[in-house]
Amino acid sequence: MFFQTDQLQHLLDNLQAKGYACIAPQVRHETIIYDEITSVVQLPQGINDQQQPGSYSLSANNGSKYFDWANGPQAIKPLLFAPTEMLWSSTRNADGNISFSAVEKSEKKLAIIGARACDIAALKIHDLHFLQQQFVDPYYQARRENLLIIAVNCSHPADTCFCYSTGDGPFVKDGGDIVLTELQHGFLIAAQTEQGENVLSKLVLQESTAEQCAESERIKSNASKQNRQLPKLDVKSRLFDELDSETWHTIAEKCLSCGNCTSVCPTCFCHSENEVPELDGKSSSHYREWDSCFGQGHSYIHGITIRNGTSLRYRQWLTHKFSSWIDQYGRSGCVGCGRCITWCPVAIDVTESVAQIVEAP
Ligand code: SF4
Ligand code: SF4
Repeated sequence: MFFQTDQLQHLLDNLQAKGYACIAPQVRHETIIYDEITSVVQLPQGINDQQQPGSYSLSANNGSKYFDWANGPQAIKPLLFAPTEMLWSSTRNADGNISFSAVEKSEKKLAIIGARACDIAALKIHDLHFLQQQFVDPYYQARRENLLIIAVNCSHPADTCFCYSTGDGPFVKDGGDIVLTELQHGFLIAAQTEQGENVLSKLVLQESTAEQCAESERIKSNASKQNRQLPKLDVKSRLFDELDSETWHTIAEKCLSCGNCTSVCPTCFCHSENEVPELDGKSSSHYREWDSCFGQGHSYIHGITIRNGTSLRYRQWLTHKFSSWIDQYGRSGCVGCGRCITWCPVAIDVTESVAQIVEAP
């Protein structure tokens, strides 16, 4: 089905009438981030992004498209797995006993507009991690159950993207509620769930024409031509075979252990748990905060830091992401979004790192 661009505001209005806060891309701090919007004028219309290892910029293209860019530093991750979140608090009562209170789970309905295929692939991995193991995360679960995803197929992959090579993009296969393809004069629109069908039923739609479908296929074909790819080898086994490679040290000479790559990565889920007591000693709050395997404290246990050096931390990150992740979740932890390449301050390229190690003779 097809809808005219001027129906986009109607879609927002319908979602808001159903009680959803609409989270969508917008330009802020010279990048594209997700935040709440009420009007389409807040969307990044006529904007392209330019991404290279260690560099990101935006430019105006004087066009009318709203989604003519690849991605920004955020994916869906911060909306469901908050960077910092209080889980419970404790109070010392007058009788000296301590009582605990859990933080209420969020019931807020969120509609995220503009999620990309790689973001949805990452979300599916987080669903495996947070919802399908022995201990379900109730905070993630509550947000997930209240989430509606209006995905947009990618038309403009960045130089750093390689989702075609991981099999996760550039078009959304499943996992959205609604999927849009932005054409020159409107959108192809399809529902992937019953929830999505309900939203579509309130819009004025037209049958898509053969010409519009052909335009969509051309977009898909162009967006699949990406500059980067992963080696076509058994990366999982080769990385494990090369644990003693000198290349880990070569990369570590450049790597700052800053953890930017793990913060922007839509699949990284490591966190720390921190207790913040009040100065009067009568109460305390317990927080969960994103952590990074590049931090010294991340591998601190029983008086020693196990991965005491950047080469060991980089090796941990890469071998977990591309090897042991497959044992845990049945697939690699990389969805090819390229964010870790763009946002690495010293331009380390994960596709090059993997190739240097697995293609070594
Ligand atoms: S490892 Fe890099 S390219 Fe892969 S999903 Fe994470 S941020 Fe994206
Ligand atoms: S690879 Fe880059 S982003 Fe990641 S820790 Fe090293 S310097 Fe920071």
